[in-house]
Amino acid sequence: MSVLDFLYKLFDTSDFPARWNCGHWTTGHGWLHILSDIAVWGAYTSIPVALVVFAKRRRDVPFKRIYLLFAAFILACGSVHLVEAIIFWQPIYRFSGLLKLLTAIVSWATVIALVRIAPQAMEWPGLKTSNDALRDEVERRERSEERLRLATQLAGVGAVDIDYGCESVRLDRMAGEQYDLPTNDWISMDQFLSRCHPADRETLLATIQSVSTSESREVLSVDHRVIHTDGGLRWLNASMQPASTHSEGDRGDAQTLVAVIDKTERMRREELLAKAKAEADAANQARGEFLANMSHEIRTPMAALMGHADILLAHLTDPDNRQCALTIKRSGNHLLDLINDILDLSRIEAGRMEVIREPCNLPLLLAEVESLMHVRVRNQRVDFRLTSSSVIPAFIESDTKRLKQVLLNLVGNALKFTEKGYVELRAVYDPHKGCVRIEVEDTGIGIPPSTLKTLFQPFHQGDASRTRPYGGSGLGLAISKRLVEMLGGHIDVQSVEGVGSTFTVTLPTPSADQLQLVPLTPSAYPRDDQPIEIPSLEGRILLVDDRRDIRYVGQHFLEEAGAEVETAENGKEALRLVQQAAEDNRPYGVIVMDMQMPIMDGHTAVSELRAMGCEIPIIALTADAMKEDRERCLNSGCDDYLPKPIAAADLVKMVATYLEHSSLEEVRNTRELRKAELRNGGKDDTIPPA
Ligand code: ADP
Repeated sequence: MSVLDFLYKLFDTSDFPARWNCGHWTTGHGWLHILSDIAVWGAYTSIPVALVVFAKRRRDVPFKRIYLLFAAFILACGSVHLVEAIIFWQPIYRFSGLLKLLTAIVSWATVIALVRIAPQAMEWPGLKTSNDALRDEVERRERSEERLRLATQLAGVGAVDIDYGCESVRLDRMAGEQYDLPTNDWISMDQFLSRCHPADRETLLATIQSVSTSESREVLSVDHRVIHTDGGLRWLNASMQPASTHSEGDRGDAQTLVAVIDKTERMRREELLAKAKAEADAANQARGEFLANMSHEIRTPMAALMGHADILLAHLTDPDNRQCALTIKRSGNHLLDLINDILDLSRIEAGRMEVIREPCNLPLLLAEVESLMHVRVRNQRVDFRLTSSSVIPAFIESDTKRLKQVLLNLVGNALKFTEKGYVELRAVYDPHKGCVRIEVEDTGIGIPPSTLKTLFQPFHQGDASRTRPYGGSGLGLAISKRLVEMLGGHIDVQSVEGVGSTFTVTLPTPSADQLQLVPLTPSAYPRDDQPIEIPSLEGRILLVDDRRDIRYVGQHFLEEAGAEVETAENGKEALRLVQQAAEDNRPYGVIVMDMQMPIMDGHTAVSELRAMGCEIPIIALTADAMKEDRERCLNSGCDDYLPKPIAAADLVKMVATYLEHSSLEEVRNTRELRKAELRNGGKDDTIPPA
């Protein structure tokens, strides 16, 4: 029989009688079968429908596919019963076989699926266990909610709920206190906003609306003022975020959550702090001005004092008289050192000291320090030497001028406190630690342990009875420590009383492969005790200063070097003389101009000269050692500056450089270049101590 025949035969009922005709059915018995089968079929069809609806609706039902299989299995069983009823009229016995086959397949598929999920199902918690777990979870959450509430209360954080549509607001107890509004009940947005300072209402509402319509869960924060019923003003900060779950239109459910903190105290403290800072700034400013003034006031007479001592020295031959003049110079230099130290310290403490890290030639710097200090050793029974490890970096990133200042101070101290034995300046390169150590070792009086702790604090000089005979201000080490730290290093000391001390400056270096390492060879650096060559001058100089003694000293030095010098007492007179000289066709080669003068000061005079088109090089004389003052000189149009007191050699050398220039255009170009450098935050070209 072919497959087609088989299928066709399935629906062929011709050779079977209807069940009513098989045997003798009483009507009652027949209908008992029929109705029972139909009832079973009805129930077997309803159950799967209920199962499918249940499985579809309940998203969290486990083993969902089993539900569907089970539904199919019951449906198949039901249809077998339906056929049993139909057979009473239509003898579809063959077709009923096919239906039974289908039922068998679905039944076995259900059995297999049940067996497969059995191990998993065995582990599925029972209802009681689930309920227990659920109850535990609820309790845990209640506890943590309670803890959170307590924490927010202790931290002073108020909670505000804002409903969907931003129409109502609910405040917890803390927020109620913060806003001075009823708590735990929904109140209208208008009532909530009525507490806000009128100037802040719009921003607060805009922020609330922006959060409520935002898709993201970004937190927005807004500061606003609130006025309590008693008139008290509070500063509040509200951070808000959309609630993690809310369904659109669910009134009574918060859509936006707001955490509120009261920052009134902080604002008050910040206000006080700002006021205190403004006062401190003003005091700092006043201190800076005072220091600049004092520096000017001390340096100006010092200029006269030192200049006259130089002139005296040139005239005196008697050793006793020369000694007197030399003592005046020495004391003058000492006073200048002191002023420079005080200025440095106040700059550091005001945060206005700048260091510039640039390639610093270490061997040259060490040789220079040795050379400068060598003069002092001549009169002492001390052996002063410079040594190093086999090689040291040829260059380190540092501020040469400031590092030199530190080393001069350390070596100066070592020589001051050592009467016999040696002082050794030593550079040691440590490739493992990536640093160079510059050590100053002496065999001097040493430092007692009690002093070591305060050694680097300003004005501390240790035991006065021990150090008084040696003099000093107690500022050098404080300045050195701060400078070294600004250079990225640190300074340490080891000392044994009566045996000696070693001060170590440690500075970081780049890795060895980026360094050029060289041995420290005896330097050809000119020793400080070699006579200074003063160049001879040829040209006309205008010297402007309101102080007669300064004019006298300056004129003396310049004329002695061969220049022709005219003097003026103030800026106005200087302008007249420059114009006169131009008319007479005898222009000045260089103008040396004091900056602080009555009638017309140096800045105004220089600006006016430049505005008139005068390109003559101008050297500013400034008694202020502050960087800004020197920047001001260059900005006014000066080419260079010299600090007071005037050192004869420095003045003559600088004037000579400007007299030797090839053209006024070249001078102007250099001047403009320096000004541009200054504008771009150029170097701190603080004038070295005289
Ligand atoms: P000054 O030397 O001008 O008093 P410093 O700050 O340089 O100021 O030094 C502070 C103090 O540290 C000195 O007064 C001295 O007591 C002590 N001191 C510094 N260097 C040495 C040294 N090499 N040997 C002994 N004592 C020293």
